[in-house]
Amino acid sequence: MSNINIPILMYHSIESMPKSTVMRSLHVPTNRFKFQMWLINILGYKGLSIRHLKPYLNGEKSGKVVGITFDDGYQNNLINAAPVLKKYDFSATCYLVSKCLGTFNTWDADKGITQSQLMSTSEIKEWLDLGMDIGAHTQTHADLTKISEKQVKVEIYESKKSLEKKFNISIVDFCYPFGRFNESISNIANSAGYSSATTMIRGRANTQSNQFKLPRIPITHHTLPHLFLAKILTTYEDKR
Ligand SMILES: [Zn+2]
Repeated sequence: MSNINIPILMYHSIESMPKSTVMRSLHVPTNRFKFQMWLINILGYKGLSIRHLKPYLNGEKSGKVVGITFDDGYQNNLINAAPVLKKYDFSATCYLVSKCLGTFNTWDADKGITQSQLMSTSEIKEWLDLGMDIGAHTQTHADLTKISEKQVKVEIYESKKSLEKKFNISIVDFCYPFGRFNESISNIANSAGYSSATTMIRGRANTQSNQFKLPRIPITHHTLPHLFLAKILTTYEDKR
């Protein structure tokens, strides 16, 4: 099997925000997102959630695929992104912070980052009903490298359990908050019963990638079309 590069896109919020917004880069305007999905589709790629991407990551399947992930679980993912994904029959994984459903990204508040609404339980059910997927992003969006091993276990194990109970679905995909992890943390994610964990290591994934250290490609407010294409089709991200 040839070693095909598989880009996994990392999004946060899909919404137009005013220029004054702190960390505006985290918000991709809906029109830009629409154009990016249109591009992926016209190039013959299929946008897939991590669950659907796995056969490609482990070499069982091959084809032109792009992973699509959203961190934190913003309400605008359901309102602005889901209809676009649906239009192209794409799926995506949204990583949820299990104790923060229906609230805001309070973990960013001390940095002055704009507070955005997170999906509520019923909105997450809508997201799932549209054929989209969810994964865990801990209970409280803790920096796992800054807390005790015992606390790391609680964050990783309990977020899985709570989401599984609430949505009656197996939660097998994990994402490290702030992209922060180490060897012991990725081993804990493995022991907890997840089958993947995504990071903020930049680059495209391939069949040799460690499933608990999956690299991603950040798509931000500043990712204009030519850069978007370079990130997906060239070694641009692999060298960063
Ligand atoms: Zn996050």
